[in-house]
Amino acid sequence: MTSTHDIVVDQVQESRVGTTNFDNLIFGKTFTDHMLECTWRDGKWETAHIKPYGPIMVEPSSKVFHYGQAIFEGMKAFKDAQGNVHLFRPEDNWIRFNESAKRLAMPTVPEEIFMDGLKKLVDLDREWVRQGDGVSLYLRPFMIASENGVAAAPSTEYKFMIVMSPARAYYRGDVRVIIASQFSRAADGGVGYAKAAGNYAASFYPNNLALEEGYQQIIWTDAATHEYLEEAGTMNIFVRIGDKLLTSPHNDRILNGVTRRSVIQLAKDHNIDVEERRVSVKEMNEAAANGELKEIFGTGTAAVIVPVLGYKHEDFVHDLPAVDDSYATLFKQKLSDIHYNRVNDEHEWLVKI
Ligand code: PMP
Repeated sequence: MTSTHDIVVDQVQESRVGTTNFDNLIFGKTFTDHMLECTWRDGKWETAHIKPYGPIMVEPSSKVFHYGQAIFEGMKAFKDAQGNVHLFRPEDNWIRFNESAKRLAMPTVPEEIFMDGLKKLVDLDREWVRQGDGVSLYLRPFMIASENGVAAAPSTEYKFMIVMSPARAYYRGDVRVIIASQFSRAADGGVGYAKAAGNYAASFYPNNLALEEGYQQIIWTDAATHEYLEEAGTMNIFVRIGDKLLTSPHNDRILNGVTRRSVIQLAKDHNIDVEERRVSVKEMNEAAANGELKEIFGTGTAAVIVPVLGYKHEDFVHDLPAVDDSYATLFKQKLSDIHYNRVNDEHEWLVKI
C-alpha cells in the first residue's frame, strides 16, 4: 500500500485487463480493476481509498435504500492516437455533482477528493482506456447515504465512490420518440436539475410504456402544461427549424448538460444561429407540417449526439426528413475530434492525465 495526497492506494495483484474482451462489451457491465471509496463521517471526509473493484458492505437499513438519498455523475476518458488519456471538461461534472449534493442535503465533495481521486484512478487503470473512434472509459462518480436507521432524515454518513467502465463505440439503433403529454420527469422546485438517482427510477415506467408502443425514448415536456419541450430521455434536446438551432434554457427541471453546453459553443464557433429559449410542441408540430422542421437530436455524455428519426405527439406522427447538412453529424464529428485530441482544443476542454 502506498499513500499520496491522502489517497491510499491498494493495487490489485493481477489486472483483469488482459482477459477482458473489449470488442464485446455491454455498456456499463464491465468494470476496471480499481474503484475509489471515501467515507464522510462526524462531519468530515475521511481518507480516500483506491482499492480493487468489488462489493461494499452497507447495512440493509442504510438510508439510501429507503429514502433514495443518492446522486451520481457520468463522464468519460478518451485515449488519443499518441496514447495520451484525457478527461473532457471534468470540472463541470464536479461542480454539477456538488449542486446535486446540496439539493439532496448531502455534503459536497472537495476537489482533492473528486478531481485528484478521479485522475489518480484513471491513471492507475489507464490500460482500460482503449483507442478508437467512439471508444472511451465511462466514469461514474456517485454518493450514497450509508447511515443505518430508517428514520426519514438526512444521513449522518455518506460514501463517495468512483467506478469506471470501458465503453465501445455504440450505435443506439433508430430512435423515435413520444412527446410526453401525461407523465413528467421533473417539476418546478423539484430535483430535475440534479443528477438524483430517483429521477431515473421515476422515468422507467413511462419509458416502458413508450417502448411497448415502439418508441425508444420520451421527450419530456414541462410538468405544468406539457406544452414545452424540456429533455430527450436522459439527454438534452435540440430542435432545428430552418437553419436555426433551438434548445430549452436550463432551469430547475432540466439537467444542465455538459454536452449541451459544448454543442452551443460549437454552434457559435460555426456561425450557426443558436438560441436558448422555450420551444413549444405546437411550434414544432407546425414546423413539421410545413417542412421547416429539419432535425431533432439529443445530447449527452453516453451517446454524445443522438438524432431523432421521428416522433409522435398525441395523434400527430411525423418522420424527420434526411438532410445533407446535418447539424447532428457536424457536432458529433467536431466533438469526436476534440475528445480524441485530433484538433486544436481551443476552448481547453481536455484535461490530460
Ligand atoms: N439530461 C439528463 C436527464 C441526463 O441524465 C443527462 C446525462 N448526464 C443529460 C441531460 C446530458 O448531460 P451531459 O451532457 O452532461 O451528459
